[in-house]
Amino acid sequence: MAAPPVAPDERCHQVPAPVLGPAVGVLALQGDSGEHAKALIEVGARPVEVRRPADLVGVDALVVPGGESTTMSMLLESSGLLSPLAARLADGMPALGTCAGMILMARRILDGRPDQHCLGIIDIDVRRNAFGRQRESFESYLDVAGMEGGRLPAVFIRAPVVERAGPEVDVLASTEVGSGVCRPVLCRQGAVTVSSFHPELSDDRRLHQMFVSSILEPRSA
Ligand code: GLN
Repeated sequence: MAAPPVAPDERCHQVPAPVLGPAVGVLALQGDSGEHAKALIEVGARPVEVRRPADLVGVDALVVPGGESTTMSMLLESSGLLSPLAARLADGMPALGTCAGMILMARRILDGRPDQHCLGIIDIDVRRNAFGRQRESFESYLDVAGMEGGRLPAVFIRAPVVERAGPEVDVLASTEVGSGVCRPVLCRQGAVTVSSFHPELSDDRRLHQMFVSSILEPRSA
């Protein structure tokens, strides 16, 4: 027997509309993409693994995780992702680069491999492996400009630092790199945010939250 007809207004209310956050691509060629995916889900975004050019279709933003920037650079080339990714970023797609991801997004890499690519979408010069041997990995707490709720825990693993930040770059946090010298470790230029540390490896989700909010409400800068 045919089901009784459903009045149009009842039909509309049967299934609540799902609340879908932005689709955030996570470059998953190498490195700790899984931890970023978890963090993105926790702040209401939809992570999408990006391994091939077709995966970029439909993503609203991109996270480039930590790992090994020289390996990622080679894999970007061999996967065919380098050009389409650079084009989306040049077109203003919001992006978060952490550690090796920061290196890949920089204008210039110091102590890199000569054949290492950088995407040049944030006007910074980045030095790889900038911390001394005994501090190759450490955790510290950072004062982040404009961030409420106290200092942000930051896990540094063979981390880079910013040696030069251009006039368009906002330096949001710095840390001591030795002998009283401080260098930027969290920067933003327009829709691009980069960190020397791994926000996905601590339980504090404020940086991912800030990034996802910036996708939903782009700044007028
Ligand atoms: N030292 C690494 C590089 O040069 C980055 C380290 C990291 O991402 N944790 O790529």
